[in-house]
Amino acid sequence: MDEAILPVENAHEPFEEAHQPSLVDAMQTENMVTSSQSSSKYKDILSQPAAGVSHRQRLLWLQKRRSPGLWAQCDECSRWRYLPHVLDRHELPVKWYCRMNPDSTFASCSAPEYPIRMRDEEDLIHSEYNAGSLVMGRVEGWPWWPGMVDDCPDTEQYYWLDGFSDIPTHYNVVFFDAEDVTRAWLAPSDIKPFKDRKKVNIDFKKNNRERIKVALKQAKEAEKMTLTERLAKFSFVGRYKGDINSPKKVNKKEIGKYKELFERKFSVAMPDDEISDSESVPE
Ligand SMILES: [Zn+2]
Repeated sequence: MDEAILPVENAHEPFEEAHQPSLVDAMQTENMVTSSQSSSKYKDILSQPAAGVSHRQRLLWLQKRRSPGLWAQCDECSRWRYLPHVLDRHELPVKWYCRMNPDSTFASCSAPEYPIRMRDEEDLIHSEYNAGSLVMGRVEGWPWWPGMVDDCPDTEQYYWLDGFSDIPTHYNVVFFDAEDVTRAWLAPSDIKPFKDRKKVNIDFKKNNRERIKVALKQAKEAEKMTLTERLAKFSFVGRYKGDINSPKKVNKKEIGKYKELFERKFSVAMPDDEISDSESVPE
């Protein structure tokens, strides 16, 4: 049987300049935060990875900071409600109302809105997916394939913003597979929620049949896990056993950009020596 190979290095970043929204607003209003859960989360975000950690360790550090939870806007009263256990907006019905909130304190349109400015940075962008969202993804020349939105080891982010828009133009997707660890930046039009997989044509023909069955099985296994378990087992950094070095073919200026994104994201300063491009290049 001819073995089909997914494109292994399809991991280039989109070309346009990216920017990330700033945490500054949220930080300045930190004293408005009344929930201990949220305030400890901000403290957590403010913590820094230990100096001198490897690239892999930093990715794992970042992964532990990924959490479900999003802000949903009521289609009746337009108030925003925080839903701590919802990973991405595809888990919600098209129309969402306060009365659907499992938290009875806010399950009515008459309940006051929580201070809006304590939203997480990820909630400030109009992200359809979150790190850990299970999806079907399409790479040119390949059938729809099960995958998971995951942090890119180069940019250390799972979404890509172009220009000044807060709507991601791409998401980094790592594909389920028995052995190969492949990932790609995909436009939203090439991504569907995994739960809607029946709506895409999964090609079980030809050489991919057994392989895609294994991938689907893994995705269903991931579906039953908590977000933390899912990321630990199926993320790029969880599965890829080779060295994770500084981004390939990326010059110092570009690495500086990634560093800047990371620093802005977590409002931390990283020592310059952590992002040397003198590390050996894999392969
Ligand atoms: Zn409402």
